[in-house]
Amino acid sequence: MTAGAGDGSERAPAEQAWLIAANVVRWRRYGEGGQELRPGTKSYRGGSKVFVIGTYPGGAHEQLTTIGRGRRTSSYITIDMSTRNLHTFRALPVYSPTVLRLCQEAGVGGCWTGRQDAEELAALLGRLSVEYRTGRWPAPHPTPCRCHECLTLSRA
Ligand SMILES: [Zn+2]
Repeated sequence: MTAGAGDGSERAPAEQAWLIAANVVRWRRYGEGGQELRPGTKSYRGGSKVFVIGTYPGGAHEQLTTIGRGRRTSSYITIDMSTRNLHTFRALPVYSPTVLRLCQEAGVGGCWTGRQDAEELAALLGRLSVEYRTGRWPAPHPTPCRCHECLTLSRA
C-alpha cells in the first residue's frame, strides 16, 4: 500500500489502526510468595509503553501479544507477555508504520477494526490485569513494596 506525499490534490487515507496501549509495571513481584521485586519485565523496561495486538483464542487473557521497544536495544519487538505486568490499558489510534507493519507480520488477529472494539477490550484487560496480579500473588506483599497496586496506593 502506498502513502506517498502525492501532489496534495487529495490526501491519501492515513494508514491507521486502533490498538490497545498499556504501560509495563515499574516493579513486579517475583520469587517465593512474590516477596522479591524486579524492575519491569525481562523484555521491557518498567513504565514503557507497549501495544497489545493480540489475545489468545479461547477467552483466556493471561497472556497477550505485544509490540514495544525492547529493554536492551530500544528497537521494536513483538513478544508475548503476562497481562498482570501491564496497566492503564487504553484504546489508541496508531499511525506508526513500524508498529503497523509488525502488527500485520505477527498475524495474531490484532489491529482491532474499530475504536469501540479496542475500548471494550481495553476496559476488560484493565480489570483482568488487577485480578491476575492479585490472584498470582496473595498477601502479604513484601515490605516495603513497590508493586503496581502499592505504588498506586502510595500516590493516592
Ligand atoms: Zn505491593
